[in-house]
Amino acid sequence: MIAATTHTIAGRSRNPIRNRWAKIIASVVLITVVIFIPFGRRAFPIRNSYHIDSLSFWYYPWGISEVHKGIDIFTDSAASVYSPVSGIVWEQGYGTLGGNYIYILGPGLRTYYFAHLSAVYAHRYQWVSKNQIIGAVGNTGNAIGKPFHLHYSIHSPLPLLGHYNEREYKATEKLFYLDPLSDNTP
Ligand SMILES: [Zn+2]
Repeated sequence: MIAATTHTIAGRSRNPIRNRWAKIIASVVLITVVIFIPFGRRAFPIRNSYHIDSLSFWYYPWGISEVHKGIDIFTDSAASVYSPVSGIVWEQGYGTLGGNYIYILGPGLRTYYFAHLSAVYAHRYQWVSKNQIIGAVGNTGNAIGKPFHLHYSIHSPLPLLGHYNEREYKATEKLFYLDPLSDNTP
């Protein structure tokens, strides 16, 4: 009798349909919370950078992604990376290009991407506050052997129509990216 009860409970917790609904409901709740975060001035993720190439945003040609969708902030190894906004860690992992990376979902459902980290101090679905330390600068992924830097990019789910310039390379795709250095518009 005890064995049967235990089996039922274990079976319930492993129910894939129930788990899927739990994930969907959790995602809807998190997205709803993020939608209502007010827009404000972003914080800068690095405190002491020694070089930022202001022309690196949308630089072409740039490897397999053709354009550089963010900026590279050169600084000391293991310098702290601060979250520019309050939001939720939407994804965190390791990729061959980005190395250790973090995506934060912030105001307006924009995603803030940080790559080449040496360490990550936040986990998936964790709430982070603006200026909270989320990781440390490194040279992981396709930055191995290169100077330590943070790759930082901001993606918007809605096109920023006022930014359209037909003479720019991939002008339509660019509408979905913000220049972290100059573009602070909500
Ligand atoms: Zn980069």
